[in-house]
Amino acid sequence: MARPLTASIDLEALRHNYRLACECAPHSQALAVIKANAYGHGALACARALESLAPAFGVASIEEADALRDGGIESPVVLLEGFFDPAELQDIAHRDYWCVVHAQWQLEALLAAELSAPITVWVKLDSGMHRLGFQPADLPVVWQRLAASSHVSGLRLMTHFATAELMDTALFQQQAATAQSTAHQLNADICFANSPATLCRPEVHGGWNRPGIMLYGASPLEGENDLSRRLKPVMTLSSRIIAVQQLEAGEPVGYGGRFVTTRPSRIAVIACGYGDGYDRHAPDGTPVLVDGIRCGLVGRVSMDMMTVDITDVPSADIGTTVTLWGRGPNEACLDINEVARYCDTISYTLLTGVLPRVPRHYP
Ligand SMILES: *Cc1c(COP(=O)(O)O)cnc(C)c1O
Repeated sequence: MARPLTASIDLEALRHNYRLACECAPHSQALAVIKANAYGHGALACARALESLAPAFGVASIEEADALRDGGIESPVVLLEGFFDPAELQDIAHRDYWCVVHAQWQLEALLAAELSAPITVWVKLDSGMHRLGFQPADLPVVWQRLAASSHVSGLRLMTHFATAELMDTALFQQQAATAQSTAHQLNADICFANSPATLCRPEVHGGWNRPGIMLYGASPLEGENDLSRRLKPVMTLSSRIIAVQQLEAGEPVGYGGRFVTTRPSRIAVIACGYGDGYDRHAPDGTPVLVDGIRCGLVGRVSMDMMTVDITDVPSADIGTTVTLWGRGPNEACLDINEVARYCDTISYTLLTGVLPRVPRHYP
């Protein structure tokens, strides 16, 4: 029998979430962001599942784009950070990738290149996050130079929000105002909204939006709203109990003896550890579902295993299904955001952190 740990990917849920992103913004096209192996879900499988719905895909590098083209995806693919080396420009033109330009060196390289075909360019404005993009004062000249170039076949304005998911909206309001006034000045087609802005900031929806995490069914919002509640989890990470320890009170469990039993306990050993991408920082009490029933992790996560207190689930035994996040047996569900909160992280790191040794199943 194979090691029981798998990541089961529900492509119908992915399509449902994509349609929800479109419903949130009925006047926008949604660029499906599938960078980082579709947030751990398998980029090619997700692209194929969304191909008939999404007009374009977003990735972080030409290597990620090539993997889609080589797999037969013909839709436009946006390089969200543009190129890292001007030598990529030939392939960008040749394979018809859409390219972000966020810095002066990229602008000069693009204008100076000899290209076999013109490129669709998404110009990035730094509206206040101070990561990538041109300053608002510099943008008009950048825009004019690109618009005048025979290397450019289409131009779009984008920016990225630092805080669209938060209740405190001061920085978001400032970024939105900066981005909107720049867009107005240039009469530009815009793409501003990530998942949180797609879900709860309709005022910045544009001709395009760029949802990522919401497609995978994890809400990025600080609080929920009616739309985010309709998201369906796409990945279910599940395994099985491979051993059970019957312990007296006062016995340590696992590395460092971090957890010590306070009562006679049944401790289950689960085949899943940090060598699979499960967060080693998970504290005692981090929820898992044992046959659909909530139990708590106890003791440190090991490389290939973790331990869970199943004292209160007497029916659980070797072979019982354990759900680390996603959908469990008997209609049970464990929200990845809850696991992330225990681990003091976000759903994005848990999903992208699932390592290649965990087989992805597409039922
Ligand atoms: C990753 C990314 C997104 C998607 O962000 P989510 O929070 O996952 O929706 C959108 N735009 C850019 C530029 C990105 O890099």
